[in-house]
Amino acid sequence: MIPVEMDAWVVARPGPVSTRPLRRVRVPVPAPGPGEVLVRVEACAVCRTDLHLAEGDLPPRRPRTTPGHEAVGRVAATGPSAGRLTPGTRVGVAWLRSTCGRCRYCARAAENLCPYSAYTGWHADGGYAEYLTVPEDFAYRLPEEVPAEKLAPLLCAGIVGYRALLRSDLPPGGRLGVYGFGASAHLTAQVAIAQGATVHVLTRSATARELALELGAASVGDAADPPPEPLDAAILFAPAGELVPVALAALDRGGTLAVAGIHLTDIPALNYRRHLFQERTLRSVTANTRADGREFLGIAAAHPLRVATTPYPLDAADEALAALAADRVEGAAVLLPGRFA
Ligand SMILES: [Zn+2]
Ligand SMILES: [Zn+2]
Repeated sequence: MIPVEMDAWVVARPGPVSTRPLRRVRVPVPAPGPGEVLVRVEACAVCRTDLHLAEGDLPPRRPRTTPGHEAVGRVAATGPSAGRLTPGTRVGVAWLRSTCGRCRYCARAAENLCPYSAYTGWHADGGYAEYLTVPEDFAYRLPEEVPAEKLAPLLCAGIVGYRALLRSDLPPGGRLGVYGFGASAHLTAQVAIAQGATVHVLTRSATARELALELGAASVGDAADPPPEPLDAAILFAPAGELVPVALAALDRGGTLAVAGIHLTDIPALNYRRHLFQERTLRSVTANTRADGREFLGIAAAHPLRVATTPYPLDAADEALAALAADRVEGAAVLLPGRFA
């Protein structure tokens, strides 16, 4: 039985988290549109992008939108002309919600760059709610045996981190530097280690350094420390532009630095000889394609990853966001609606 109304959170007025930009509301359960399915949410992870949306770093695309783009649940109903996913199917709803399928970027398998793309929790209501809708072509099938709380962080932290790993051009058996060690980095590091990389983790958080060693990092250091050996590739997960020259200077000849975040503070002036010469490359990472998502979820199913999570009831979404803003969350914060908490 699908209820008429549900609990949800909306970004009422974007602003600093201290001004409580999220508001709890009772709203009608949405009806799935053409090609969409309705998903009953079992867990939704909290991403740093949700914080950027709540605080207004990413301007709202529509008023009073429900954030959340790492939702795990089951199909509760199908809309007109949907039917690939039947009711009861376990699915994940991620950041990329739709693309045009016709532009030059979509045509060359770069749908992450589609100018007509839309995003869950930004252009449409997301998973800080008991139900949400998603175009079925953009939902991922998920395994049955893993708890929802441990699957949710894979949907953005995992998938976008995996794209950053691909963009870092790490050679097989190479040396990877990981700058910052939150939800996304701890998953990406495990994939790189499983694939044979030597991983050096540089982060200011002492508890994150401990976790990195437990997960198999070869060394850990403070964010601005030089790694013990030159790096073939590096990924910057911390939203700190001042670490760009630090990471570039740590690269070996021909190395690549990929910046994983959607938002970065200003990058200080670079020195050509110290930071770029010898064919070092600086790259951004923009969202992901569905192929990245399927590939990563396949890897996660084959090499079960340790997913560090801190559960919060859905009622405490604003507290979870405030904890993330204050760097007080270990691993990923995950919201659980009442009946799953
Ligand atoms: Zn397109
Ligand atoms: Zn995200």
